[in-house]
Amino acid sequence: MINKYNYSPGPSYVKENVRLARAYEVTNSDIDIDFVKYYKDTCDLFNKIIDSDNETYIISGEAILGLEAACATLTEDGDRVLVLDNGLYGNGFKDFVSIYGGQPVLFTQDYHNEISSEALEEYLKEDSNFKYATLVHCDTPTGMINDIHKLCPILKKYGILTVVDSVSGMVGERVSVKESKIDILLGGSQKAISAQPGITIVSVSEDAKKSFKNRKTLVRSFYANLRIWENYLEEQYFPYTLPASDIVSFRVALENIVEEGIENVLKRHEKIANAVRKSIKDFGLELFSENDNSNTVTAIKMPEKIKATDISDYILKKHNVLIATSLAEYKDSILRIGHMGENARIEKTLYILNLLEEAFNSFGFKSKKSLTESFIENIY
Ligand SMILES: *Cc1c(COP(=O)(O)O)cnc(C)c1O
Repeated sequence: MINKYNYSPGPSYVKENVRLARAYEVTNSDIDIDFVKYYKDTCDLFNKIIDSDNETYIISGEAILGLEAACATLTEDGDRVLVLDNGLYGNGFKDFVSIYGGQPVLFTQDYHNEISSEALEEYLKEDSNFKYATLVHCDTPTGMINDIHKLCPILKKYGILTVVDSVSGMVGERVSVKESKIDILLGGSQKAISAQPGITIVSVSEDAKKSFKNRKTLVRSFYANLRIWENYLEEQYFPYTLPASDIVSFRVALENIVEEGIENVLKRHEKIANAVRKSIKDFGLELFSENDNSNTVTAIKMPEKIKATDISDYILKKHNVLIATSLAEYKDSILRIGHMGENARIEKTLYILNLLEEAFNSFGFKSKKSLTESFIENIY
């Protein structure tokens, strides 16, 4: 049975009006001139949410395509790229850089803390000869937020272009491209935007476009080459047939956000996340992050003798509800609650906390206080 409630940190809950939008008649994006305008308007709507004047492309493919395309289009053989690394996704950028011939240089920091802007400044004073730098806004497997509005302007000051993965950050965490001066911002449809998976959003600055134009060699990909999008608006022609239904439902998800107001959406995430963190600690568990700072995902450190998969298996078997553990070396030791997008609602959060409480108790966990009672005390 694939019809389950899902509280993982993405994909998140998709509202009915977004799901139903997929049932509209499917247009042909190659010959329907109205669709070009609809597409551009959707990009502009997205730009309002991320406070940006840069050019935005909505591309068919999961967010990983956006990450790869940014690296594919910027990187030439031998380019040095600074990879800011305090989490699994942060570290993972080195692979995209290498695949396209670049030379990744890791700036690895403590995985339990956000990247310090002072440490970055110190580092750049010694070595700043990089074409671009990669940074993850919310490193989802460990629930770590980095301060993009502080870090990106520092990199920019040293003439380094910035590529930011805000796939699980944006809409749950404030993003201002104008303030942060991000050159390539990457997002996905299925996290806090609360649309179905399948779309990546890539927003590109004029400086990044200049860098694309100055390449001496061709980009070694067609599908992951952002330059194929450069002239779609002038030519009223897309590089290939777009998934019209995905874009229509994505547009409805954006309209839901704009209707509620992005400031209200951000406040809702913050309020839920604060109450979740407080109740987890009151219950007697610890968080992985020492900063306690993600408003979209809470990563819980598992107590001794209980594995994260014990809890997720229990909740799945007994209640048909999905909750995520973590990845790689954290698979057994971290359990994660996704409270992003449409899952960042009081009634939904209370529901999953109730199941967590039952699961932990069934494994003999000695709690200090009721998880749900603490959440209710802290949310109102
Ligand atoms: C979800 C996510 C992506 C997309 O990756 P998937 O593994 O396909 O879900 C990229 N970056 C971050 C930080 C994410 O949370």
